[in-house]
Amino acid sequence: MQRDLGVILPAAGSGSRLGYGIPKALVPLGSKTILEHSLRRFLDFPRTHSIVIAYPKTYRSEFQKIVSGLETGEVSIALVEGGEERQDSISNALGLLPELKWVAVHDAARPYLTAELISKTLADAETYGSAVAAVPVRDTLKRGDRNGLVVETIDRSAMWSIQTPQVFERELLMEAYKKAENDELKVTDDASMVEYYGKEVKLTLGDHRNIKITYPEDLNTNSTNFLPMRIGFGYDVHQLVENRSLILGGVTIPHKKGLLGHSDADALLHAIADAILGAAALGDIGTHFPDNDPEFKNADSRDLLRRVGRLVGDRGFRVGNIDATIVAEKPKMKPHIKMMQSNIAADLQIDENAVSIKATTSEKMGFVGSQQGIACHAVATILSR
Ligand code: MG
Repeated sequence: MQRDLGVILPAAGSGSRLGYGIPKALVPLGSKTILEHSLRRFLDFPRTHSIVIAYPKTYRSEFQKIVSGLETGEVSIALVEGGEERQDSISNALGLLPELKWVAVHDAARPYLTAELISKTLADAETYGSAVAAVPVRDTLKRGDRNGLVVETIDRSAMWSIQTPQVFERELLMEAYKKAENDELKVTDDASMVEYYGKEVKLTLGDHRNIKITYPEDLNTNSTNFLPMRIGFGYDVHQLVENRSLILGGVTIPHKKGLLGHSDADALLHAIADAILGAAALGDIGTHFPDNDPEFKNADSRDLLRRVGRLVGDRGFRVGNIDATIVAEKPKMKPHIKMMQSNIAADLQIDENAVSIKATTSEKMGFVGSQQGIACHAVATILSR
């Protein structure tokens, strides 16, 4: 995909109403700052080429420190000192962006933004030249007089509350800023410039959750996007039959029977893969690697596990730790546990001491006890990057 989007994050707001005594963008939300949440949405967006952050005067080093600590992939990030007004900040930032086709402006103080909303706004900008995220006004609107008495009720059916992102063809926004400067026009958002310049602006249906953090109660850390850690559970069982190899945790274990399945039937790796997918709410291995697909016949489950690691990685997570239990009457698992742990750690690119494998029997009861099959249980944590 072409990286043709430049992003400006105005982050120069003081945040005095939040009461932290530091600029709003630096206030923590869950395990990260508000700025990092907003930045991450654009860093992970496949069309982002460059990002310019407008920081509040005297806070350069604090912002620099956050940016240096980020995994930015192919995206470049620059800092620019914010101006007196938001408009001045954007104007400074525009001058620093490379000549890309599209520019998105997004308030750093709107960390609840989704990738879907960036896509929708950009798509509308591609059709209309400019697009802004907006939501229909929910409350009844009234005009009041100086004494706080109602003068009239305003028809709200055509009223929208304007959010960000606001996406523009770069040329168009540059022209509008130039014209506004000549005419000494003052506005509170960038779409107003483009409207003033006489161009169409499309209202893209935004999201009521995409609020601008202003008051302490806006710091909603319950949103699952901000959970620093998530947990998943996986369970798998395969039948023990003659003429199959017994493979668990990627280790071939000498035994008179093996596990039956479309793939190599490694029930331990399947349970672990399901736990990881479950933690990210990404379905199960059946969804991703269907057992009627010839590609996965006799598949090496270690390969599936590596793919699952990459799948959650693409969603901004890394695996934290794994804890699993094999339930098998025979053979003894103990001599193989270390090797299993080291295979799993290598496939998920995590430390060996983050992988725990245990084994137990079923005390001769049930299908495991009668050696008809082997069952595995696993839990996994994933951490947001
Ligand atoms: Mg299975």
